[in-house]
Amino acid sequence: MKRENSNRLFEKAKKLIPGGVNSPVRACKSVDSSPVFINRADGCRIFDEDGNEYIDYIGSWGPMIFGHRHPAVIDAIHSALKNGTSFGAPTGLEIKLAEMIIEAVPSIEMVRMVNSGTEAAMSAIRLARGFTGRDMIIKFDGCYHGHSDALLVEAGSGVATLGIPGSPGVPESFVSGTLSLPFNNIKSVEEAMEKHGSEIACIIVEPVAGNMGLVLPGDGFLQALRSLTEKYNALLIFDEVMTGFRVAYGGAQSVYGIVPDLTCLGKIIGGGLPVGAYGGKREIMEHIAPQGPVYQAGTLSGNPLAMAAGIATLTELKKPGFYDSLNSMSEKLGKGLFDAAKKAGINVSVAISGSMLGMFFTKEKVIDFESAKKSDLKMFASYYRNMLQNGIYLAPSQFEALFVSSAHSAEDIDQTVYAAGKVMSELNGKQ
Ligand SMILES: *Cc1c(COP(=O)(O)O)cnc(C)c1O
Repeated sequence: MKRENSNRLFEKAKKLIPGGVNSPVRACKSVDSSPVFINRADGCRIFDEDGNEYIDYIGSWGPMIFGHRHPAVIDAIHSALKNGTSFGAPTGLEIKLAEMIIEAVPSIEMVRMVNSGTEAAMSAIRLARGFTGRDMIIKFDGCYHGHSDALLVEAGSGVATLGIPGSPGVPESFVSGTLSLPFNNIKSVEEAMEKHGSEIACIIVEPVAGNMGLVLPGDGFLQALRSLTEKYNALLIFDEVMTGFRVAYGGAQSVYGIVPDLTCLGKIIGGGLPVGAYGGKREIMEHIAPQGPVYQAGTLSGNPLAMAAGIATLTELKKPGFYDSLNSMSEKLGKGLFDAAKKAGINVSVAISGSMLGMFFTKEKVIDFESAKKSDLKMFASYYRNMLQNGIYLAPSQFEALFVSSAHSAEDIDQTVYAAGKVMSELNGKQ
């Protein structure tokens, strides 16, 4: 498979854009590779600038739950476009999408639209601090909530270690109120709450963690977060930017039966256009300006094209049986990959949640960031590069999930599993 055009474009991009990319993982550094430049996509297929075709499991990192160019979404954007691209004023479209989100996710009684998941999480944290009058927050190692300062805390290995800057440019004082704890470890949360409970504004968590690979919440973990936040009058924030409308129409909270105080959304609700949202209990949301004192604003927030794409997306997702058939494809892929690895004599740990999927190259059970990091990253890098050569477009990191879309057919899954089997047998042969 030739990638001359992609390589040429990457050389040029590197001179103009830091690292040649507008978001770091795209540069494919950790897998010793360089990015494929995309020309177009259709359904579950994505085509690069050299005319190569791949089956896409990145799905723009989550939003493309129908695959690319779903006619209902494209049509909705076209009709909205005729009326103008941005007004910076209220529209009926915003109300419609708000209504649909509130109907889908019962814990959300009011919702505010923003432009990205980063903004949603950042604003939800500000609201939690403003509402409770407390400064400290708890997050979990390996969970990602966008790149705002307070949430960009390096995954520490110790229990209840105080946050340290995860990036140059984030002042120590900005993250000194962020406690990062191991995912799935109820005891460490209990201890942190015993010690700091009266200072904790909120616990923010990805209810199904999809940014350290895919790691499912263990028995009782989310429930414990709910009871502990209630006990200490702190807020529970579910960051469902990835899982919202992905693992189920009502998000992970509907699957696990937990009612958080605030929820962050993004990705799917924008139908492929830039969007985020945060919402929750009315009495909390009423603290946001102009109704309340907690300030948050946005020039393009509630953008009519994004709202139209979101409404069309949710309308399609609501159709009966949608998630059943989508999830059956994802199960077929998960089982296929597991069996292929077994046959090739390679140890893997596979996790599935709806149409999110993860495969770690380790035989240990992966329950948190520590165990995720035990995965054989060199093996993953070879697997990634060889899969790409075989026409399978995976996220270029062991610490990202795979997304199956409703455009993936049984044949596409078979083709993927066949490629994985071939690649893994070759990898094992080389060891
Ligand atoms: C993607 C993601 C974000 C950040 O969203 P952006 O739109 O990239 O800013 C935040 N939280 C979670 C759980 C995500 O998966």
